[in-house]
Amino acid sequence: MSQPDIPFPQSPVLPTMVDEKYVIQFSCHKGIGCWNACCSNIDISLTPYDVVRMKTRLGISSTEFLKDYTVPYEMDKDSIAGVKLRPVENGTACRFMKPEGCGIYEDRPTACRYYPVALLSMRKQDEYVDRDSYAIVKEDHCKGHEVKRRIAIADYRKEQGLEEYDELARGWRQLVLKKQSSGPSIGKPTLRSRQLYFMACYDIDRFREFVSAESFNKLFDLPQEEKAALLVDDVALLQFAFRFLRQVLFGEESIALNAEAAQERLAKVQEKRLIEEREAAKKRAMESEAEGDEGFD
Ligand code: SF4
Ligand code: SF4
Repeated sequence: MSQPDIPFPQSPVLPTMVDEKYVIQFSCHKGIGCWNACCSNIDISLTPYDVVRMKTRLGISSTEFLKDYTVPYEMDKDSIAGVKLRPVENGTACRFMKPEGCGIYEDRPTACRYYPVALLSMRKQDEYVDRDSYAIVKEDHCKGHEVKRRIAIADYRKEQGLEEYDELARGWRQLVLKKQSSGPSIGKPTLRSRQLYFMACYDIDRFREFVSAESFNKLFDLPQEEKAALLVDDVALLQFAFRFLRQVLFGEESIALNAEAAQERLAKVQEKRLIEEREAAKKRAMESEAEGDEGFD
């Protein structure tokens, strides 16, 4: 089964993009000759909301879920971390696949819901808003395309419960697009910012501990009732995590900083900048000295 966000990572051929009015011919139902063929060979990227749904379904923490049920991967050259569903030990099949179908059907991930459609979120460099378009994935083993049921992608999304899934992962998609469109000018993120990104996006239970910690309190001036409400609601906390990441990674301030901490932070940033400038000046001086030495040879 192909993944929706980067649907054809190995293919050099760009898919034809269509909008949500496009009508597909497709039906997947029990009894079809290829039943479970797609779930026998998986390559499924998860959104942060998928992780919340699945770990809740399994009754485990996000930390346990990530460890046992996923494998991390780099979404692209900019080192944006992603997670994929881990298949069965020494195999390619999904661990939730049962003879009667998906064992977690009500909480199945976005990619499984979309299939055979792939969502392509894009943002033009001169535009702030992201736009969704779609591609159709046709794999030889999938006989669903031969069934004569016609449905517009918009209705297919409704049928598969994707409106909610996409809405609750939108903040994450925007972060990914923003990182991709900012490209090399921002440079490779530091290990610390990558860890923060991973935790806030995927490990919601650790992010909860992070928000509950005294160090967070010292830095951010978040009203107590707002914080208490966030801490008991994974979905609300996830939306806050996206907001938090926009602030710490891209400087889009929406969470008030504690005045004293803000001063301290500013002083630290200035000190760091000063050290960097000194280092750069030292390096330049050494380089020009070396060039001068070469001239005398
Ligand atoms: S989660 Fe369910 S639908 Fe998705 S690959 Fe696994 S068994 Fe198939
Ligand atoms: S019709 Fe396609 S999606 Fe449905 S079981 Fe067969 S291979 Fe999977």
